[in-house]
Amino acid sequence: MTDVELLRAPLCHTPGDAFRDEGALVTHEDGGLAVRDGRIAACGDFASVRAAFPSAPITDWRGGVILPGFVDTHVHFPQLRILGGLGRTLLDWLEHVALPEEARMADAAYAADTARTFVRALVSHGTTTALVFGSHFAAATATLFDAAAAAGVRVISGLVVSDRLLRPELLQSPREAHRDSSELIRRYHGRGRLFYAVTPRFALSASEATLEMCQTLLAEHPGLRAQTHINESVEEIAQIPSFFPWAADYLAVYERYGLTGPNTVLAHDVHPTDGELARLAASRTSIAHCPCSNAALGAGIFPLQRHVAAGVHVGLATDVGGGIGFGMLKEGLQAHLMQRVAHDPVVLTPSQMCYFVTKAGADAVGLGDEIGDFLPGKSADFVYVRPQPGSPLAAALQRAETVEQMLAGIFTLAGAESVREVRIAGAAVHRAYDATLGEAVAP
Ligand SMILES: [Zn+2]
Repeated sequence: MTDVELLRAPLCHTPGDAFRDEGALVTHEDGGLAVRDGRIAACGDFASVRAAFPSAPITDWRGGVILPGFVDTHVHFPQLRILGGLGRTLLDWLEHVALPEEARMADAAYAADTARTFVRALVSHGTTTALVFGSHFAAATATLFDAAAAAGVRVISGLVVSDRLLRPELLQSPREAHRDSSELIRRYHGRGRLFYAVTPRFALSASEATLEMCQTLLAEHPGLRAQTHINESVEEIAQIPSFFPWAADYLAVYERYGLTGPNTVLAHDVHPTDGELARLAASRTSIAHCPCSNAALGAGIFPLQRHVAAGVHVGLATDVGGGIGFGMLKEGLQAHLMQRVAHDPVVLTPSQMCYFVTKAGADAVGLGDEIGDFLPGKSADFVYVRPQPGSPLAAALQRAETVEQMLAGIFTLAGAESVREVRIAGAAVHRAYDATLGEAVAP
């Protein structure tokens, strides 16, 4: 038998769909997680897991909580340095804040430095898997894949393609975009933990020839994902008819070019029609909900109740840099807060927030069989959240009577400072320096 490590701490996960199943959250107050060869060997009460692996060395993590690794379903790596561009609306922010910075990715060294910082930011916030918008430049997009591979992080990304409306240096002809995308697919798709996603920026910036090129790539390479934006701001949606006069609605543009389905994630969908929701559900297309970004750019309040009622699958996302940072816990809290002021709210439970940041995202990005919860056989991707001694979170966890209450406290109070250790396939990809315990651990 190969070596087994047994971790002991309160733990929880959501193997079921927390929007359909009230019992989706599984908790173990004195939990045991057995890891063998980078995979979950067992998860349950410590005593029973201990009995199954009596000779395994024990890592005692009581004092914190173990959660599955977080999955960010929509985030832009070239926008790392422009976080904080507050007070604008989408199209204004794109033109004056986001796109000038994205143009700087023409400098591959600048891009590589950004990519390394980006990957560190993901893991230091507990994100183990991310569906990432790459750059408009192939060399810059390659630096992201390289940084993710070096760190061991699961990243699904692709060259961002556009051939109109944006600054000229960000545009590519469909032929050039096909050539560069094909080369990136050849180099990275399916290599280790990397996957490729066909990534038209959004319908307004992609001509029908570019969208057709995206469809061709999907047909040429089985297993690719696709990602783009939809129905984010009212101003954006109002321009769709002038570019696509034949389209009944925004979604119809993507449908015509095969950019919907179980391998596609569409970001935002703040302003969908009922017809679009029904078709998203029927095609099993996922939505990336970005509540911090929706508030920061004034896009609107996400109609979660309508998505759930229509049967549309929704994951959660930070949307850096339209959003406000890398924390998926913060994003879960913001989703909760935005719903409290929604016209037709879903009052999110800790179970639903946990599901949102873990299993829902795993399913959205097509990795639900590999990650997202602690079922035996899955990759051992997990986050150890432990409060700083004397902090409000420490007090809240001490006071909590159930793991579900701990979870609510973690979503409300935990930032990156409480993300103590992050593992992917059982291996540490992040360890926090903890001065209070006298430990200095290199990341
Ligand atoms: Zn975005």
